[in-house]
Amino acid sequence: MISSPETTKLPVINRRDFLHGSAGAALLYAMGGSLNRAQAAVVHTLPPLPYPENALAPLISAETIGFHYGKHHKGYVDNLNKFVTGTEFADLSLEKIIADTAGQADKAAIFNNAAQVWNHTFYWNSLKANGGGEPPVVLKQKIEAAFGSVDACKKEMAGAATGQFGSGWAWLVFDGDKIKVVKTGNADVPLTKGMKPLLTIDVWEHAYYLDYQNRRGDYVNAVLDKLINWGFAADNLGK
Ligand code: MN
Repeated sequence: MISSPETTKLPVINRRDFLHGSAGAALLYAMGGSLNRAQAAVVHTLPPLPYPENALAPLISAETIGFHYGKHHKGYVDNLNKFVTGTEFADLSLEKIIADTAGQADKAAIFNNAAQVWNHTFYWNSLKANGGGEPPVVLKQKIEAAFGSVDACKKEMAGAATGQFGSGWAWLVFDGDKIKVVKTGNADVPLTKGMKPLLTIDVWEHAYYLDYQNRRGDYVNAVLDKLINWGFAADNLGK
């Protein structure tokens, strides 16, 4: 369950663009009254990357981002639209689909694609060119209270990212009143456990294999030292 609407806001990305593909919705609407759900149908769209594909190079190459965003992320969007068409989920927002299908084996295909759409959008925003460094002061204070230091927090995130067996995600989250590090497998997202995500690192092999092959730890350290977007985490904390 999502604990409150506050946890589901996606900063940076225009929420309306993210959740509603107006062209697709208009097309369905134009198809007329034979589609009961047409007026409310949600067409999920691939949000624009917050930076050019080569912005994170050489730490994450344009080639990696090209495949990761242009093929993987887009594929999840396309599959989600395909799988929800004609179902009870066709007119629901992305976050509502995630909440309503989490933990249900017979809805796994819908959940996995919906969560992967959300996770990837959140991941792109968790990175930026010339990232890393010191978090904004309010976030830094909370990190120091929870972990002792920013370095200790980074170390725990690196441990979660390298310790996740197989595909998944490492997260910095706000859980209740405390900042924590958690990891999730495959498409799972802390939203479904009532936690507020602050940052994420994708540790599926497609996120790093072209640049780092099997060296997941090198990719994770590059992200934490030079790409992580602490400002995005601070924005999420304040929402
Ligand atoms: Mn990915």
